[in-house]
Amino acid sequence: MKYNKGTFGLALLKKLNDEPFDIVRFSRWCEQICSANARNVDEELRGILFEISTMEDDPQFEYTKEELQTLAKKLIYEDKLLLNLPKATILEEKWVMCSNCGDTWEKSPTEEPIIICPQCETTFLNPRFKM
Ligand SMILES: [Zn+2]
Repeated sequence: MKYNKGTFGLALLKKLNDEPFDIVRFSRWCEQICSANARNVDEELRGILFEISTMEDDPQFEYTKEELQTLAKKLIYEDKLLLNLPKATILEEKWVMCSNCGDTWEKSPTEEPIIICPQCETTFLNPRFKM
């Protein structure tokens, strides 16, 4: 099976959400993905995985948690996988509603392609996102 950008983006986003941010752990995790999926990863994703896995070698290669979150969202967005994501319901002003648990929250800036429900952590396509 192909391991593509979107698959990795979703896994990365989930890991950033679920686990405390640790450079060494994230580095090695990417290294593992790269070797476990060696034949199913395309050139571009291999480069990205390699870049993240070098974080532990030198502080100048380090990403911050926010940078990795942005990268993960970009990967999901660039991948067709994004089309399968549910859309959060648009409410007034910047508010959106989760179609899974009904929670509402006020975080839907137009530059963010993906938003996550703070209550149930479902990943959504941001209904206000504009390229
Ligand atoms: Zn929810």
